[in-house]
Amino acid sequence: MDEYLYRDEEGDFVLKEAPCPFLGTDNKCLVYESRPKACREYPHTNRKNIHGILGLTLKNSLVCPAVFKIFQQIGKDYRK
Ligand code: SF4
Repeated sequence: MDEYLYRDEEGDFVLKEAPCPFLGTDNKCLVYESRPKACREYPHTNRKNIHGILGLTLKNSLVCPAVFKIFQQIGKDYRK
């Protein structure tokens, strides 16, 4: 953990570098079978408490097209 992670201002563990040091040259995860829980659950859009992580979801929408589309749909649903 000390080698790869630090705690951000919200107390969450965050990778020290991007892209992730476990991302292979073939764009596949080198530690896929034992990847962290956050990676298994990414992009976190199926959480019951997605409303509690809208800030994170908004950030993820800037780098993940799937999250962007889900975020757009949530916006449309709430305008109805
Ligand atoms: S799934 Fe997680 S551990 Fe694997 S390359 Fe992506 S960010 Fe890194």
